[in-house]
Amino acid sequence: MDHVVVVGAGLAGVRSIEALRAHGFPGRITLIGEERHRPYDRPPLSKAVLLGAADSTVVDSDLDALDVRLCLGTAAKGLRRGVLETTEGELEYDGLVLATGASPIRLRGEGRQYVLRTIDDALALRERLVPGARVAVVGAGWIGAEVATAAARAGCSVTVVEAGEGPLAAAVGSVGCYTIPWYAQAGVELRLGAKVGSVDPGGLTLMSGAHVTADVVVTGVGVRPAVEWLKGSAVELDDGVVVDEHLRTSLPGVVAVGDCASWWSRRFGTRLRVEHWDTALQAPDTAAAALLGEDAVYDPVPYFWSEQFGHMVQFAGHTQAGDRMVQRGDPRSDGRWAMCWLTADDRLAAILTVDRPRDVVQGRRVVEGGRRLDPARVSDPTVPLRDCILT
Ligand code: FAD
Repeated sequence: MDHVVVVGAGLAGVRSIEALRAHGFPGRITLIGEERHRPYDRPPLSKAVLLGAADSTVVDSDLDALDVRLCLGTAAKGLRRGVLETTEGELEYDGLVLATGASPIRLRGEGRQYVLRTIDDALALRERLVPGARVAVVGAGWIGAEVATAAARAGCSVTVVEAGEGPLAAAVGSVGCYTIPWYAQAGVELRLGAKVGSVDPGGLTLMSGAHVTADVVVTGVGVRPAVEWLKGSAVELDDGVVVDEHLRTSLPGVVAVGDCASWWSRRFGTRLRVEHWDTALQAPDTAAAALLGEDAVYDPVPYFWSEQFGHMVQFAGHTQAGDRMVQRGDPRSDGRWAMCWLTADDRLAAILTVDRPRDVVQGRRVVEGGRRLDPARVSDPTVPLRDCILT
């Protein structure tokens, strides 16, 4: 193999290049990126950047030393075996890494809506977060909660409009309702069960016909894998790029990583597509190995974190229907608590922690180990999780 092309100059793309070189690939590498910026990290966009504590989050990677040809401002637009079509012409490849991430979903309407995916999005939104500005955030998911946190800190008058019964419902179900009080404590109005019909000049129109007046509307209702350009190619798509446990696509010599990849998880016996930083960081090592003909398997316990309303929220694992919840600490009286999801035979499937970092570190290892736990001890927040393992 002489030439590897990496499509998508985000974290997963850069890590793929580092991994290829670490695995000893001596050939040419070309990195194609639609944005005009050098690769940067996204988690700080809704935290340090919005709060005004950082202007740049460029990934700390020496692309020159890695001997990469960098093609920024160039988008991939089609794929045939051995040939990538881009906005700047065709490129032949021997190996291809798909790392195009995801794009935010937008709502209907004529009004301006801000989304938060790129550094340009973050800097444009930050300019509007001034004291007294009326900010409507659509969606109380991870991004919505972090934007509301930053907007409230900037002195804006913030309303979060959420269609579901509680925040974070898509990710953690009813447990997200324990975060409802955080909104009022931060001076943020949270409107639940409120579906947005359209974004209009001057604010939002809800399905109920009610209006939410706003100077700034931020839409945080999720993302879609950025794989439209692969439609009609030989790469199988189904909620992202379908890859096996080695991260290989249906087209030989092509692998996929990060937010755009839906991989087969041997551990959980299901397909997973995880839109979080740790996946973009770790998966490329397996993908590079697969591309170079090595036999690595990607089988992580997914992990992510969110910083919102002064709390560190962390999650590790994967929940499935039938798991039962065991609480550690009382969310109503104790600021620090965790929720564990146990399988029918008392193995830890997943854990959500609020300001209990030790629990998530130990919990992730316990999920990895697959050992059975004593549920009574799990419910006692004074017992370290690793001491809940049945011998
Ligand atoms: P991306 O970072 O999206 O990079 C993909 C790149 O590919 C983009 O630059 C895109 O422009 C480019 N591209 C797309 N299509 C094409 C094309 N056709 N041709 C060429 N280039 C293309 N995760 C956490 O775990 N914790 C957090 O606290 C957290 N906070 C976040 C906050 C924000 C505001 C955002 C947006 C994300 C956050 N995440 C967080 C998620 C995490 O940042 C992502 O999972 C990670 O960025 C995924 O990396 P990626 O390289 O797969 O995709």
